[in-house]
Amino acid sequence: MKTFDAIIVGGGIIGGSLAFELATRKLSVLIIDRQVPGQEASWAAAGMLAPEPESADDIHVLPLARMSLASYPRFVEAIEDASGLAAQFRSDGTLRLYFGVDGESERDRAAACHRDAGLSTESVSIAQAREIEPSIATSATAFAWLPYECSIDPRALTHAVLTAAERKGVELRHGTAVDQVLTSNGRCDGVVAGGETSRSRHVVIAAGCFSAGVDRMSRYAPTCPVRGQIVALQPSQNAPKCVLRGHNGYVVPRNDGRVIAGSTSENAGFEKQVTAEGIEQILRAATELAPSLSSAVIVDTWSGLRPDTPDHLPILGPTDIEGLWIATGHYRNGILLAPGTARVMREWIVDGQPSLALEKFSPLRFAAEHRKAAR
Ligand SMILES: Cc1cc2nc3c(=O)[nH]c(=O)nc-3n(C[C@H](O)[C@H](O)[C@H](O)COP(=O)(O)OP(=O)(O)OC[C@H]3O[C@@H](n4cnc5c(N)ncnc54)[C@H](O)[C@@H]3O)c2cc1C
Repeated sequence: MKTFDAIIVGGGIIGGSLAFELATRKLSVLIIDRQVPGQEASWAAAGMLAPEPESADDIHVLPLARMSLASYPRFVEAIEDASGLAAQFRSDGTLRLYFGVDGESERDRAAACHRDAGLSTESVSIAQAREIEPSIATSATAFAWLPYECSIDPRALTHAVLTAAERKGVELRHGTAVDQVLTSNGRCDGVVAGGETSRSRHVVIAAGCFSAGVDRMSRYAPTCPVRGQIVALQPSQNAPKCVLRGHNGYVVPRNDGRVIAGSTSENAGFEKQVTAEGIEQILRAATELAPSLSSAVIVDTWSGLRPDTPDHLPILGPTDIEGLWIATGHYRNGILLAPGTARVMREWIVDGQPSLALEKFSPLRFAAEHRKAAR
């Protein structure tokens, strides 16, 4: 039986990034994934790196989001160096479009809120907006320019992260689900997957929306899936060059010329279908933002499951069992938050203390509710 410093349950962008980070600190790491890693939410994501708060919950995530975005260029460089693969990072900014009679006041409120959060969102005129991005809809009534926003191809990134981790010595075991988390003398010391026991000093649950289904983990990680559908378009002319976002959806250009349009937000359990209603909603929003997309060819559609939590905040940190850690629940922002999450979790595991205050994300915040429900 092999012993590791850390076992990570789940090889999505979160598990992969943390494995890479721990391996650079010379820890021996095993990732166990029940399928080919990187095929769930991290495969389905649009790839916007958008730190600005869109709801009251997002305010709590802002310090981690800003730190994570700031560390992206160096993170990508390290991953690309180690893997030899391109992660398709783009720092083109985002144009936010507002529609209707209240567009201008809505834009001004959002821009002021972003600036309060330390983000340099600018209100721009239609002429300025068209100069930034000629493909935009002239029916919009207000525009904001978010120059700090970036985007990335999540599939390319996740593949590069997992390759980089392997090249740093991380062992990747796939095709077997972790079905038991082992504890002895009050501490966690390994897992059982496919009948095989692996031992380690630390176990990190990073199984995305499936985390609640891992042996007894729902008390720390009561995750649930929120389905998001995506349509990939191949425009023949006047394609957007930066991310465009409105109230009803977004479009994200890729380096290969495709434009990724999203998304829905549905409670559909673990069903990953693409529906006529979902596609119709996405295409309506995409062509509202950039009317020229109405002649684009639909080249692909898919859906994925965002890992949501009861308070919509991530779940990060130690549990009340020594050696058992949680890193999940990144909901709509797991791609953005991956480098930051890997860093704070590595600081916690290796140095005993993260460099950001993360009490709001504690896995113990659900324990009382869980005990009540179990009675
Ligand atoms: C349509 C859509 C659009 C999105 N757009 C964006 C965006 O623009 N920007 C952004 O930042 N985020 C976005 N997200 C959110 C982002 O995709 C997620 O937050 C992120 O990918 C979560 O990563 P993860 O590693 O936690 O989970 P996942 O990628 O879901 O990985 C979890 C892994 O755990 C494995 N697993 C599960 N159970 C077990 C088990 N018992 N044993 C072993 N392995 C197990 C799974 O096989 C999987 O590989 C989007 C999501 C969707 C669905």
